[in-house]
Amino acid sequence: MSKIHVLRIGHRPKRDKRITTHVCLTARAFGADGLTLSPPDSRITETIEKVTEKFGGSFEFEDTRQPKQFIDNWEGKVVHLTMFGMPFVETFPLIKKIKEPILVVVGAEKVPAWTFEKADYNLSVGNQPHSEVAALAVFLQNMNENWEGGTKDGKVAVVPSLYYRHLAKTPTESQALTLHAKAKTQKKIVEHCKAVAKLSRKVAIKMGANSDIAYIGGLLHDIGKAKTKGIEHAHVGGSIAREESIHPGIVHIIESHVGAGITKSEAKRLGFPEGVYMPKTKEAKIVAACDNLFNGTKRQTISKRNEWLQTKKLTDAASRIKRLHKYISKEIGKDLDQF
Ligand code: SAM
Repeated sequence: MSKIHVLRIGHRPKRDKRITTHVCLTARAFGADGLTLSPPDSRITETIEKVTEKFGGSFEFEDTRQPKQFIDNWEGKVVHLTMFGMPFVETFPLIKKIKEPILVVVGAEKVPAWTFEKADYNLSVGNQPHSEVAALAVFLQNMNENWEGGTKDGKVAVVPSLYYRHLAKTPTESQALTLHAKAKTQKKIVEHCKAVAKLSRKVAIKMGANSDIAYIGGLLHDIGKAKTKGIEHAHVGGSIAREESIHPGIVHIIESHVGAGITKSEAKRLGFPEGVYMPKTKEAKIVAACDNLFNGTKRQTISKRNEWLQTKKLTDAASRIKRLHKYISKEIGKDLDQF
């Protein structure tokens, strides 16, 4: 998906606080990369920054007093959502093909005429008057197939439940070790986990990722080995963590730490339950990459790990771990082998 930024124009600080907050929350929740508010309102900036800090992700929030100039300076396409625009069914397929960054403009009351003139596309979400929140949600949901994915690197995360409301916090170190004790994880595996966790935390700090999640994810990544030594320890560990209602960012680390992750087709061939076994978050990538550099508690180089995978004829997995190692090394500005 191309980069999507939202420009909210015509905000009236006295009247629109709630609806503009909802525009921002909707943009963030449905996968826009950021939003610019015009004119500025510090109360909204504060609310959105707090939400992003708590629930994670990297939503860029800015403001401007010059929305017209902001559009002029935009390097990409401009889509203005308005009931007076072209029908969604006809025009949206063209927008979906855009590769450049997209600026989505939504109004408050009546937007100035230049908004229509400056837009590459004036797009209607049905030709009935409704709301900027609804129009934006429908647009983003159609742009982003993964709209339900959400973020997993926040201090807290929702644990899906049929029956109750649960907002999981990152477990503490002692809670994580208690979980190992409960699962009866072998001592040498716990020691390995501690070594991976320490390096993961160091890398996460350097990368500006959530170091608590990386550390606790590292501590728990092999909890599935309490029950099985095979590759399925990834999803078995995930189930143990889910049963304990652990933070979804940590469950994701446990499920995706093997090698540099397991692809959808491999997971199917291995008979894994439906799930995501490729590391998607920064923290999951960090733990997977760090795990490759340990044999028990001893450091090993990525080449050594690579050789081992080659001897097992796991050539795809071998190239994947090299790619992941390179990615992390680039992010920290140093070969991870030397870190
Ligand atoms: N009715 C006016 C219009 O659509 O230009 C403005 C008022 S409306 C409360 C505020 C904003 O909601 C609009 O600026 C537009 O971005 C969005 N909006 C409302 N109805 C829409 C529709 N049917 N399609 C696309 N956007 C819509």
